[in-house]
Parts: sequence; structure tokens; C-alpha cells
Amino acid sequence: MPDTVVEINLSHIRSNAAAIAARYPMYDCLIGVVKGDAYGHGYAVVQAMRDGGVGMFAVSSVDEAHDFRRYSDAPLLCLQPVSLDRLDEAAELSLTLPVGDMTYLRALIARAHPYPFAIHLQVDAGFNRLGFKDACEIEQALALLRSSPYRVEGIYQHFATAGVFDPYYDRQAARFSELTEGIDLHAIPLVHLGSGVALLAHDKPDAATATRMGLILYGYNITPTSYGGGVKDRLRDLRDRYYQKKYRLSATYRDVELVLHPAMRMYTRILQLKNVTAGEHIGYNAAYTAPKDMRIAVLPVGYCNGIGHEDHGRMVQIGDNLYPVVGEIGMNMLCVKVDDSVMPDDRVTLLGGRITLGMFARAAGMGLAEALLLIGKNNPRVYVN
Ligand SMILES: *Cc1c(COP(=O)(O)O)cnc(C)c1O
Repeated sequence: MPDTVVEINLSHIRSNAAAIAARYPMYDCLIGVVKGDAYGHGYAVVQAMRDGGVGMFAVSSVDEAHDFRRYSDAPLLCLQPVSLDRLDEAAELSLTLPVGDMTYLRALIARAHPYPFAIHLQVDAGFNRLGFKDACEIEQALALLRSSPYRVEGIYQHFATAGVFDPYYDRQAARFSELTEGIDLHAIPLVHLGSGVALLAHDKPDAATATRMGLILYGYNITPTSYGGGVKDRLRDLRDRYYQKKYRLSATYRDVELVLHPAMRMYTRILQLKNVTAGEHIGYNAAYTAPKDMRIAVLPVGYCNGIGHEDHGRMVQIGDNLYPVVGEIGMNMLCVKVDDSVMPDDRVTLLGGRITLGMFARAAGMGLAEALLLIGKNNPRVYVN
């Protein structure tokens, strides 16, 4: 067993997908976003997602599609335009192609590739990243594709904001409708607008027949939560309701009851336990000075393991207790302040148990998906059922 491992629970992945499928039957197709090596979980999770009810998958690039295909023959959408030099590869991978730009589309059609590619049109309703931002172009693109060997299977956009008491969500949804007014959306099987948080926090947009999701499949219910009961929170609540009325915002759901189980945990072991006397320094730059006598555990984890070097109150769990990191995080070691209950052979949990992904990511100054990706990609993974 390596010193440090990331453990991925496949039955959690399966039950997360099944719970989402059961709660959102109004979508014909759930699209599992598995870019970034399935958010660091590895493409070995794809079958579990499929077993739970995910019908289609999305990766970022042809390279990711190669990795994906080692594990699954499921329908696969590429989220980034595929270089025309790689169309043969894309055909071999049965990759569904995105198209969000006329120049690219004309060149794609001019290639007249013999493989009858399925196409998803990308609409830019406010993100200003990929996609068409002009209604006429979308009509033209459809017309061009209709007389091409390719087939339009989907159309989608991506929300720039979660739209929780933020009028920009509604503006993007409305903009998508405007941009697609001139075409028959019913003729396109897969219309997908948003990601996990849009799914949880909002009603299904009328036109949508499918939805994409990443984080929630891996076990994180990212529904916005209600405020607590304090005075400040009641004021926040009033402010939200005022905004909702003033800007006629669509309904937003909080505290959505959807039981999801995080699939990823990260463990390590203790290299050495040692006593430090008050006034002694610990680690690089002698950055930490022991305020009193203490016992520390040295762990074989550092930024080399993808945890970053920042420490905004990072904790690890040993037994049932949480212990704080002391001193700077090195390339492959760090120290935690422990108590007498800790034994040399104790297992140390860096993520999982009492350490939520939110705590982990905050302590590392990372986003949630970023944290999963970095630790998943930089440690040996073991899969359990
Ligand atoms: C990453 C991504 C998603 C998934 O987002 P989550 O917030 O993890 O649900 C959906 N759509 C696109 C286009 C993405 O790039």
C-alpha cells in the first residue's frame, strides 16, 4: 500500500447518479461531465455513473476522449472544438462534436468527413466564451448542417453564474430563448442549458430535455442553503425577497433534499511523532514557533500531492479528532499538532470523514472541483465498491 492514497467509492458514484435520476425524471438524458479525468476520480467511475442512469458523457478534448474510451463506449460529447486535423481520431472515438462558430463550421463541412458526426450547437447566452451569440448565425448553422453529412443531435449553453438571487441567471435563460427563437428546438433531441447547481437551484427551463452535471455526481450537494435564524440572516432573507420581486427573478430553491455521498477520500500515514518545546520553530523559514510544549506528527504529504502550499486553517483527522497543520507545507511533507492519543500506526484522513470538501478546499485556497482534480490526479487511486 502506498503511503498516501485517494480512495474512490464506486457504489457512492452509482447511488449519486441514481438519486439524481430519480429526483429529476423530467430530463430525458443526464449528461455526466467527466472532464479533468472525471474531476480527478479517473474514468473507471464512468460505468458506475452509467449504471446509476447517466446516459451521455462530456469531456473537454480529444485527449480526454482517448482516456475515456479505455473504459466506456457510452455516447461522448466533446465540450471544446476539435481541431480539424484530428477529425479521424474523433471519428474513431465516435465523438460528438461541438460547433459554436461559423468559420469553424464552414471548414468542418468543407472537409466532408465520411463519418456522420453528431453535432451539438453551442449557444453563448452571456458567458462570452464558446458559442454563437447571434440568432441569424444559429439559423444559418442549422441550415448548413441539414444539407451536410453531419446530424444535429443537441444544442446547449453554459451558465456563467448560479443565479441565486442574481438576475444574470434569468437574463442568460431568456437570452437562450431569444437566440433560438428562429429555430425549431423540438426538432433537436438534446437541449441542455446548465450544470449541477442550475439543476438543483432552479426549475427545468421549458426547452430543456437534458442536463449536464459534474460535482453533484461525485457526491456534493451544492444547493444553496438557507440562512440561519439570526438577525443578520433575517435581513438577508428580506433583501433576497425584495430583489426577487423587484427584478421578477425566477424561483430559486435552497436546501434541496438530495442525499449524495462524496466518493473521494484521501488518506496517509504518520512518518514520525515528535515532541517540540515551547519557543522552538517548526519547518521551512522557521515560520511557526511553538507557543508551548507540543507533540507533532510528520506526514508524507505536501504540494506534490496536489494539496497546494497555502494553509488557511487546514486540518487532518486522526481517529475521531481534528488536528491543525503547523508550519509551512513542503513539497512532500507537512506537520500537524497532535495530542497523546495519536499512535504511530494511526491512519490520517486529509479528505473525507469529518473533513468535508468545502473545508479542504477553503483551507487550500482552491475551488471544490479544483481540489478534487488536483488530489485525484497527483496520488495513487484505489477503487472500492
Ligand atoms: C464543467 C462543466 C459542467 C459541469 O459543471 P458542475 O458545476 O460540476 O456541475 C457543465 N457544463 C460545462 C460546459 C462544463 O464545462
